[in-house]
Amino acid sequence: MVTFLAGGTGTPKLLQGAEAVFPPADTPVVGNTGDDVELGGHLVCPDLDTQLFLDAGRIDRETWWGIADDSHETHDELHALAEGARLDTTPRYLDDDAQTSGRDIARWRRFSGIGEFMLIGDRDRAIHLTRTGLIDEGYSLTEATATLCRALDVERDLLPMTDDPVASLIHTPSGVMHFQEWWVHRNGNPPVEKVEFRGSTEATPTEAVLDALTDPVVIGPSNPITSLGPMLGMDAFRETLSLTPVVVVSPFVEDQVFSGPAATLMEAVGYEPSTAGVANAYPFADAFVLDIEDGTELDCPVFRTDTTLDTPEDSARVASAVDEALAEVV
Ligand code: GDP
Repeated sequence: MVTFLAGGTGTPKLLQGAEAVFPPADTPVVGNTGDDVELGGHLVCPDLDTQLFLDAGRIDRETWWGIADDSHETHDELHALAEGARLDTTPRYLDDDAQTSGRDIARWRRFSGIGEFMLIGDRDRAIHLTRTGLIDEGYSLTEATATLCRALDVERDLLPMTDDPVASLIHTPSGVMHFQEWWVHRNGNPPVEKVEFRGSTEATPTEAVLDALTDPVVIGPSNPITSLGPMLGMDAFRETLSLTPVVVVSPFVEDQVFSGPAATLMEAVGYEPSTAGVANAYPFADAFVLDIEDGTELDCPVFRTDTTLDTPEDSARVASAVDEALAEVV
């Protein structure tokens, strides 16, 4: 068994064509939950869902989120109603009391559904309704996720990093906002002063996660701050990881990021936005897979290949390099 750690893009892209080397049934994925929000009473788990939809053969490959060919009738109607009533459709947080009451897992990231600031497709919404319904019936997020895997014939163990609330909050000169407001609604503005993973020091990884971390671990190309930060903010997660062989695939080619806000966020919290900075963020890493164009020198084994991950063939090539790196460090 080999366990992959995942945000919402890089690891799913790495696993899209990796079945020959990493069969899904033997390759658990631990997903970040700091990006999750409660929107109109429904718990939305973007990182878990990208891997779920990929494994179910339903991911929208243009965006790497949501279900392919989904409709958006409920979302459009929500907007029409808000606009008809001249309601402000910027993200509408519930009040302070509501942030810490209600479902425990949704703490510090609870928004009303008015004008829904994230685009939620109709079929996608059925996933969130089922997940939230199961949680309201008393199941944990881990159990609800396993049920969704069963519903979609996914044989992989898809493991939320914790069943406790952890919220990725971005501190800016205009105030504190959830990562999804900063990234989805405000397009990565305003400037970042600090990134906080609220709840992470009290949160614990689940037993299933701690067990999965005793197998060799691969960190697919990920945002070290908002995808791995919430996991590494949990003491037991970091401690378990430090005892296990870890291979990292860089989300950069030297200082060129493939996509997303990793560079901005790394710089904001004091890491060089580059492969060297990623290595500094992961002092427990035992080997790296870097792009052939990436000349970064590291003081651990480095394996090079073309790390572009656009197609399943790309994924198979990078998976082979990861496998070689694992053979070196396990
Ligand atoms: P998020 O949850 O969507 O923010 O995404 P992740 O934590 O999964 O991070 C995505 C990271 O994957 C970004 O930092 C990108 O630079 C990286 N990435 C995206 N596409 C590729 C690719 O084709 N190859 C590699 N090596 N990295 C990629």
